[in-house]
Amino acid sequence: VSTGARPLKNDDGDFRGAVVVFNEVTGLVDALAAKDEVVSTVSHEFRTPLTSIIGNLDLVLADTEGLDSPVVRRIEVAQRNAERLLALVSDLLMSASSAVHVHPRRTDLAGLVEASLGSAQAHAQASRVDLTMDVRGPIWAHVDPLRISQALDNLVSNAIKYSPDGGSVRVSASTDDGLVRLHVADTGMGMTAADARRVFTRFFRSPAVREGSIPGAGLGLSITKAIVERHGGSISCRTLPGHGSTFTVELPADGPPAAF
Ligand code: ADP
Repeated sequence: VSTGARPLKNDDGDFRGAVVVFNEVTGLVDALAAKDEVVSTVSHEFRTPLTSIIGNLDLVLADTEGLDSPVVRRIEVAQRNAERLLALVSDLLMSASSAVHVHPRRTDLAGLVEASLGSAQAHAQASRVDLTMDVRGPIWAHVDPLRISQALDNLVSNAIKYSPDGGSVRVSASTDDGLVRLHVADTGMGMTAADARRVFTRFFRSPAVREGSIPGAGLGLSITKAIVERHGGSISCRTLPGHGSTFTVELPADGPPAAF
């Protein structure tokens, strides 16, 4: 049931009672669950053939002797697009499943940031964006390293994607009161306050982005939020149109290693 309530006041503004409305939404909840089930099944079925396509293209590209370079370029384009499709299908699959599964262990977050930036460096160079980190490790936290890397990768790739040529992206960290904060700051296009309020909603893309040619499905940030919250953390965004955005992930820190 979904509920809504409004106070009832007399002409003097005195509280006289309340109107409470209950809506029976079982049908809606069932429909949403059925939709997620379809998305989840279809995405899952897409993964196997896509993985096979990518594997076979990888094999062809591992030995290109005897192939003309225009042919190699076409195969590379096909491989890049198949990988994009696989990433999209994986995001759809994850966003349709009701629970994010995590396997937490003691992890150095500084190491994860370094690895994430290492793999984003090529994207940053191609987009002419300066990508730097100001994180001194180790910073221990009890997290699932794969999932937190996925969250970081999403934030860093957005920061690059939504920054113009010559922009800069900086990842920094701070610890305070048993909390670790990771900040991903860019000097990119930023967002309006109204967009920033909806940015973690599934399938949301800001109108400015939808008009342009920057690819995306509006799933990355909702997945990132689910991952962070599954670790008992939170995520927030400060942004100014035309000036840039800073996304901050807050996670519970892990204490120092136990002495034996
Ligand atoms: P996608 O990037 O695939 O569209 P996301 O869920 O990652 O999906 O982001 C949702 C939307 O939030 C984006 O479409 C964009 O409008 C906005 N956004 C996210 N990160 C940034 C950023 N660093 N700067 C400006 N806008 C952003």
